[in-house]
Amino acid sequence: MNQQDDKIEQFMAEVIAGNPGELEFHQAVKEVIRSIIPFLEDNPKYNKAKILERMVEPERVIIFRVPWIDDNGKFQMNRGFRIQMNSAIGPYKGGLRFHPTVNLGILKFLAFEQVFKNSLTTLPMGGGKGGSDFDPKGKSDNEVMKFTQSFMTELQRHIGADTDIPAGDIGVGMREIGYMYGQYKRLKNEFTGVLTGKGLEWGGSLVRPQATGYGCAFFAEEMLKTRGKSLEGMSVAISGSGNVAQHAVEKVTQLGGKVVTLSDSNGFIYDPKGVDVEKLAYVMELKNVKRGRIYEYCRKYNCEYVEGRTPWIVRCNVAMPCATQNELNVNDARTLINNGCICVTEGANMPSTPEAIDLFLKNKILFGPGKAANAGGVATSGLEMTQNSIRLGWTREEVEQKLHNIMVNIHKTCEKYGKESDGNINYVKGANIGGFVKVADAMLAQGLV
Ligand code: NDP
Repeated sequence: MNQQDDKIEQFMAEVIAGNPGELEFHQAVKEVIRSIIPFLEDNPKYNKAKILERMVEPERVIIFRVPWIDDNGKFQMNRGFRIQMNSAIGPYKGGLRFHPTVNLGILKFLAFEQVFKNSLTTLPMGGGKGGSDFDPKGKSDNEVMKFTQSFMTELQRHIGADTDIPAGDIGVGMREIGYMYGQYKRLKNEFTGVLTGKGLEWGGSLVRPQATGYGCAFFAEEMLKTRGKSLEGMSVAISGSGNVAQHAVEKVTQLGGKVVTLSDSNGFIYDPKGVDVEKLAYVMELKNVKRGRIYEYCRKYNCEYVEGRTPWIVRCNVAMPCATQNELNVNDARTLINNGCICVTEGANMPSTPEAIDLFLKNKILFGPGKAANAGGVATSGLEMTQNSIRLGWTREEVEQKLHNIMVNIHKTCEKYGKESDGNINYVKGANIGGFVKVADAMLAQGLV
């Protein structure tokens, strides 16, 4: 072990001791400090002020009970969270996740990632994340409304348009944002931009629903350009079939790529002919309206369904994991590389395990980590906040152009901080250092924050 490895291990030992059992949080911190600790060697001012030690400690954690009554008149109880991680460069900003696996460690990992991601967008947004172990799957609209109203009844004390602005994530789409916004308005008697991902008629922005998936495709395009390639003619494997996956399909297809897989937590579909515009419309109806399962796609379009597996066994040029954390392990990474995959762009947060990332980097695969590649969603939430503040709405073209510029600039930042002596770009290092510097400088300037 060299001296830097020692420092990384020492730092991690303290993080683990202070945050026991929070495995995903440990994983996210380690991934970041492996880039930052070497950088601090040449920038001792951050060490002296213990900036990194402060950045792994949330400014505030709120945990609360959420009682609600189901359609059978029975009392139910869930746990609600909001992690206010860092407000050095703007109000806390980050999504809400409703999923049975939600716990403190998962939300702290997401909030930590969010700080770096939001900084990379160049917009004035701090980092936060929240949610609940409530599972919207199989619940009626009425039950979802009852739960979200109870959730917001507590959360409203802690958020505000200039304090903390939540948005959607897994299990939180426009339906959930709508019910929460309605409840916030009833309790506060104000119509403000306190949530993003709102409906167009009530303060939302054009292109926000599409933004994460579109941004991910734009980022893949920028990465491929560095090797003289583009998405045109590429075969693309995408996981998930929710918000991010659907819009990644849309933009990849518009840019000339062919998407051959989609998945949900039960399995994946393989459609070698490609998920075209008509098939995507079917997926959107199936997932967003009927709330069905992805295997139904195969019945309709007569293609293969693989139960209980992820799509990474399929031959492709580009992989876009767009479902959830740790959905792509080192064996998947090896299979992808052996099958000729040259580019992996993370639409989800931390979908690749650390061993998978190491293998991609060792093999010089173009690897775009989520905090850079999926930052288009929160960036467009930032654009929604601006439109709410000026009380004007921009056109679809204006928002998409701004989103595109932001993704190009994030790529430039990754290049600036991640270019290696052999000319390759290490996007992990680039995104971590690029995201860190702005927040760290703001913390230094603000003193004891
Ligand atoms: P959705 O709830 O719309 O879709 C999630 C998709 O992932 C579904 O297909 C779901 O399948 C699948 N999935 C969820 N959990 C698991 C699991 N444990 N194993 C396998 N599949 C799973 O969420 P989003 O599309 O919004 O989010 C997807 C990812 O993108 C998340 O990591 C999120 O943090 C990240 N992200 C989202 C942003 C946004 O703007 N929405 C912004 C930036 C990142 P099933 O229906 O079976 O659960």
